[in-house]
Amino acid sequence: MAQSADLLIRSGRLICPGTGRDLSGDLLISGGRIAAIGDGLPRADGAQVIDAVGKVVCPGLVDLHVHLREPGAEKKETIESGTRAAVHGGFTTVCAMPNTTPAPDSARNVGEIRAQISQSAWCRVGVVGAATRANDRETLTDFAALRDAGCAAISDDAFMLRTLAQRREALRRCAELGLVFIAHAEDEALSAGGVMHDGALSRELGVPGQHPETEVRALEQWREAWDGPGLPPLHVAHLSTAAGVELLRDWREGPTAETAPHYLALTHEAIREHGADAKMNPPLRTEADRQALLAAVRDGIVGIVATDHAPHTPEEKAAGLAHAPFGIVGLETALSVTLMALCEEAGMSLPEVLVTLTSAPAARLNLPQGRLDVGAPADLLVFDPDGRWQVDAEQFSSCGRNTPFDGMDLPGTVSTIIAGGSIVYSDGSFAPLRPSGLN
Ligand SMILES: [Zn+2]
Repeated sequence: MAQSADLLIRSGRLICPGTGRDLSGDLLISGGRIAAIGDGLPRADGAQVIDAVGKVVCPGLVDLHVHLREPGAEKKETIESGTRAAVHGGFTTVCAMPNTTPAPDSARNVGEIRAQISQSAWCRVGVVGAATRANDRETLTDFAALRDAGCAAISDDAFMLRTLAQRREALRRCAELGLVFIAHAEDEALSAGGVMHDGALSRELGVPGQHPETEVRALEQWREAWDGPGLPPLHVAHLSTAAGVELLRDWREGPTAETAPHYLALTHEAIREHGADAKMNPPLRTEADRQALLAAVRDGIVGIVATDHAPHTPEEKAAGLAHAPFGIVGLETALSVTLMALCEEAGMSLPEVLVTLTSAPAARLNLPQGRLDVGAPADLLVFDPDGRWQVDAEQFSSCGRNTPFDGMDLPGTVSTIIAGGSIVYSDGSFAPLRPSGLN
């Protein structure tokens, strides 16, 4: 795509979550950046106009936790389909977790993955480097080399570090290098074999359960692993339990944390109806856990919402609750499910909720996105918070159909996505060409 033409977004509700600015007006985009914000901005010659009456204009959503599956599992998802799904759901930046084959565990592999991203992604993609070599969980990677190759963070997601010594060393290196470690908090000695929350329902269904203690024990180990000054360079992925929330409340000067929309909206009871399409790791838990997470987001103990988008093929998910792989797709329902849970149910304001999906995740990894300021990258989401739609997984841009939200009536309809100053998606259609120069 050639240098983007000027764009004028007219008469929208402009929300800058980071600063709390919330006003009606126009927004002008020029040269890929936000050029002006104000009332009655003049239309430059040749500028395209987007009418945003009745709509919210905010930074494009930022997701710190997606599984794009490429390289290695392209039958589940590709960088192309996964980032299309991201745009379809309102995201302009996603961070790809490192459980791919090969893994982003060396400068060379990171370079190859980034080259593939620049060829096929529809939005910005941050590469999260693998904590261990080939995800073997034994040998820590060269974090400095991964940072220099452009990794946005380091993570042990899906291949958890096993020992306190590894965790200590990983945090020490990240602190030294200015990196964030994204931790999958699960103590496998406790979770082994558990396919859903350990409780009355897992016993009724006759499948092995996973106790909340698995999350808490892992968090205790991470707390023990940090003895440096200041805040730990640690971000806790997909927090799922009330006990985990309590531990983070007690951990003064502790890590940041994210939870996923499904933990805010559903409990393990969803497994009755959706079976393996409600199976993920960590699992959906009890109503008390869900309420604790809603309160934790309201209080800021959990400041970030991330999807843990994890596509699988229908054949894989057809293996049933006990044998199907963990994970659900989330990119195309995240905005709506989060609005339902945090705005409609928990009573947070729209700007407060948007913080968890834009400025907070961007700031955590020092990304310039997530702001609605003059000079900031023109990565924008235009949506109707009062619009309603019914989820139809067959209409997803993701290759995955594994969602427990299929058929649900949800608030929030995406109108237009702008990335790097170009319209990427508008009113149901993608641009004929991917935006270039984003990655
Ligand atoms: Zn994980």
